[in-house]
Amino acid sequence: MQLLQDRIRKDGIVKAGNVLKVDNFLNHQVDIDLLNEMGKEFYRLFGDLPINKILTIEASGIAIASITAQYFHVPVVFAKKAQSINLDGESYTAKIESFTHKRVYDVIVSKKYLSPEDHILIIDDFLANGKALEGLIGIINAAGATVEGIGIAIEKGFQNGGAEIRARGLRLESLAIVDKMDCETGEITFRT
Ligand code: 5GP
Repeated sequence: MQLLQDRIRKDGIVKAGNVLKVDNFLNHQVDIDLLNEMGKEFYRLFGDLPINKILTIEASGIAIASITAQYFHVPVVFAKKAQSINLDGESYTAKIESFTHKRVYDVIVSKKYLSPEDHILIIDDFLANGKALEGLIGIINAAGATVEGIGIAIEKGFQNGGAEIRARGLRLESLAIVDKMDCETGEITFRT
């Protein structure tokens, strides 16, 4: 998506450790007009599927998922990050290794909000090694629901998450795929 690539080039900051900072429009301040175009694009890409729910993960996924959901007219469920989980049988849980914070955290989704009848579009801001997606897919599988598709704003194509998810036959679409980024020069190369 050209608009997103242009914005990443303009405002993205390449940090050491393969981290791309986009706090100016996605992860701290949020550009709603841009997100609106992204939501439209996700609808163009996935609108043919029988999606009845969008699943994301807090915090940054919520804004993208919510704006996208306005086009699908479906509810958004977000996995909550929990400090400690209370295994009361009321929630689906997954352990996720954070790429940016280098630690493992638990995420939970109440059993009330996922069921075998659900056909899910997963939305998230970044895809790096795929751990966040693995956790969300695990939760969807535990609920007996169906993953219809996965929509990512920014995929870092030089990390292995995208290739692994696609190899599993899942329909994954990323609006911008960064193939290379250089923290010395700040140069970012996108997949065409
Ligand atoms: P993964 O689980 O695929 O390794 O990493 C995806 C998650 O880590 C995303 O939900 C996002 O929050 C965070 N993340 C991974 N790489 C980056 C990055 O380069 N920049 C930012 N802002 N977040 C990232």
